[in-house]
Amino acid sequence: MRTVTILGATGSVGTSTLDLVEREPNLYRVRALTANCDVTKLAAAARRTHAELAVVADEACLPALRDALAGTATRATGGRAAVIAAAASGADWTMGAIVGCAGLEPVMAAIGQGGTVVLANKEPLVSAGEVILAAAAASGATLLPADSEHNAIFQCLDPAQVAQVRRIVLTASGGPFRDWSLADMANVTPAQAVAHPNWSMGAKISVDSATMMNKGLELIEAARLFPVDPDRIEIVIHPQSVIHSAVDYVDGSMLAQLGPSDMRVPIAHCLAWPQRMVTPMAPLDLIALGRLDFAAPDPVRFPALRLAREVLRAGGARPAILNAANEVAVAAFLAGRIGFLEIAAIVEHTLDSYDPPAPETLDAVIAVDARARIVAGARAEDRTA
Ligand code: NAD
Ligand code: MG
Repeated sequence: MRTVTILGATGSVGTSTLDLVEREPNLYRVRALTANCDVTKLAAAARRTHAELAVVADEACLPALRDALAGTATRATGGRAAVIAAAASGADWTMGAIVGCAGLEPVMAAIGQGGTVVLANKEPLVSAGEVILAAAAASGATLLPADSEHNAIFQCLDPAQVAQVRRIVLTASGGPFRDWSLADMANVTPAQAVAHPNWSMGAKISVDSATMMNKGLELIEAARLFPVDPDRIEIVIHPQSVIHSAVDYVDGSMLAQLGPSDMRVPIAHCLAWPQRMVTPMAPLDLIALGRLDFAAPDPVRFPALRLAREVLRAGGARPAILNAANEVAVAAFLAGRIGFLEIAAIVEHTLDSYDPPAPETLDAVIAVDARARIVAGARAEDRTA
């Protein structure tokens, strides 16, 4: 019996994780579930799983959560500190599925206690990769990647053969605007941007997929997680999202992981690791698929790819600035305040504005993140029609 905590339990990844956990009630017991303020969904999940603890990050939502959990044995708490405490409440297995750098401190708290920490939440790895890896090395925590590409690489990369890797092939669907002209992309609406062709995901990552900033963040994420020279990580467009990534070895063998575009596959890999578990997905039907296509990405229509490559080479504070500026710009786009192409422009402007020293502690990363949000926010304000 393993205890499980899900940070961001009401989101897309959180819901997929709960689905798997609830299929095996004899194997997993839920310690804590957290959300921002989706009380109805959080309380329903806590009731179904008999969770010990349910937490809302937004303290104003705590009274409603208490009401919704009346008569149950689930304890309800609220506020950012309560989320961080829940992350460190001793679960054997913790899923980090909060969106954005709001998940950084909770993930660090989970890592601090050791155990297995599964990272779907990629933004903290981008902004604070060195700090997170050092904390995991210090506590002995096992980090497992749930992002489908990184989970694929994890499955294909034999740690004993890292020196014989020729390149990592990071696949990208290309998003909903893969073949659109820049002129057409200038006018896309938030509703068009969040309608991903292959995956059903939260709003922020859906917009990131549309700008391809998601692949940029994943490039940095891959460089953090796998000890391979970043210049050996190649992005390849693969519209069907069947091959989730591949590792090409010096002898000419390329190992790829294939699967349906359902996050329950990589999450199940992390939940059962180092074993495997049965999942409800239909097996891949290669004959029905018929073909798989590949193409080179276009860094002109998708400048986020160029920006991510540049900040990865530069290192230091630059990935944290890129991520924070992107979070602000995506929120402004989703709120209808700026156009789609402004997202990458705001990120580039923020990167060009200043160049702080490399942050070496969690607090230093948080300070870099906070300042980038101010610079990006001011730029978004200027651009608001
Ligand atoms: P989502 O928006 O569907 O869910 C986000 C969760 O975080 C919700 O439970 C929400 O209540 C909570 N949350 C939001 N703001 C918070 C805050 N300030 N403090 C505490 N909790 C907060 O997002 P998602 O699509 O599930 O993505 C979660 C993370 O996983 C992201 O980092 C994303 O990049 C990554 N990821 C998602 C997918 C996917 O298929 N959805 C795939 C790979 C990686
Ligand atoms: Mg991914």
